[in-house]
Amino acid sequence: MEANRVYNFNPGPAMQPLEVLKEAQAEFLNFGGSGESIIEISHRAKEFDAVLNQAKADILELMKLGDDYDVLFLQGGASMQFAMVPLNYAVDGKVGNYVVSGSFAEKAYKEADLLGVGHIAASSKDVDFRHIPTQDEIKLSDNAAYLHVCYNNTIYGTEYHYIPETGNVPLIADMSSDMLSRPLDFSKFTLIYAGAQKNLGPAGVTVVVAKKDFLAKSPKTIPTMLRYSIHAEKNSAYNTPPAFCIYMVGKTAAWLKAQGGLEVMAERNAKKAKLVYDVLDNSDGFYKGHADKDSRSFMNVTFRLPTEDLEKKFVEEAKAHQLCGVKGHRSVGGMRTSIYNAMPMEGVERLADFMEKFKKANA
Ligand SMILES: *Cc1c(COP(=O)(O)O)cnc(C)c1O
Repeated sequence: MEANRVYNFNPGPAMQPLEVLKEAQAEFLNFGGSGESIIEISHRAKEFDAVLNQAKADILELMKLGDDYDVLFLQGGASMQFAMVPLNYAVDGKVGNYVVSGSFAEKAYKEADLLGVGHIAASSKDVDFRHIPTQDEIKLSDNAAYLHVCYNNTIYGTEYHYIPETGNVPLIADMSSDMLSRPLDFSKFTLIYAGAQKNLGPAGVTVVVAKKDFLAKSPKTIPTMLRYSIHAEKNSAYNTPPAFCIYMVGKTAAWLKAQGGLEVMAERNAKKAKLVYDVLDNSDGFYKGHADKDSRSFMNVTFRLPTEDLEKKFVEEAKAHQLCGVKGHRSVGGMRTSIYNAMPMEGVERLADFMEKFKKANA
């Protein structure tokens, strides 16, 4: 860790791999000997094409997906996907099905509801989103267009530990906060999307990974920019794509490959999460986790302290230890420590150590 940098536990924009930042810095003025910066190059230039296509290939390789899947780089954030999914697929009398497991999951459902095509297939709202609904709780409607799940609930700190079985109904997942953090059988998903600013790079691009035949299905009656089919046909360059963001996502994917891929990341992420959860579990109730144990997230650890005054003190003292961004979302309160791929083990060790000392001093 560089002496002048902090460990950033913010949920997103979040910490990015130092190697990636340095590489981008080194080639910022002269990309690949072109005499131009990556942000000055034409998005039609072959140099940029190569960057985009390499990023796509690396993402598919990391996810162990074949050429029946495509990767798109879109704008409008994950929030735009909340609208694009029902606009493209909950059509011809079909119904968008949703598991409401947290704030973003609910926002996704609400976009479908605005269009009059949403159905809540399961919800854990009545228990403050402390757990992920189980397979048995999911009740699909008739004529389901898809089942939409939010795979990691960034605000509540819960994550799926199973892949919902949906039969012939396409499974769609918002993986904004756990994309490329562990291996899964991604072929069970028809469409996956993720805003980049948590686990993949800078804010400004959303990565969509989906089956090609599904992407081809968009109705011709919706605005062009909202059609998946157009973005797929034009290789994400129907209009000017967010070139710098795509370049950074590409560098992050290459970095993940160099680390050893998703198996290695999963092992590291599980170790990091265990360090923090062990502190919660061995604190005699000083730290109270929000998530039920069987739904705990590897990416966002949410917990409360005995009083709000202690929570304020915790945030301030953490900052003095180069531990930043630990304050929780207002809807849960308390703390949230986001420990994505780029958070080094030393950052989490330092956090766990700080938490132990804080407890001893204040319990
Ligand atoms: C952050 C987040 C979003 C919102 O992403 P934007 O890119 O800001 O629209 C959606 N879903 C999840 C799971 C998130 O963590």
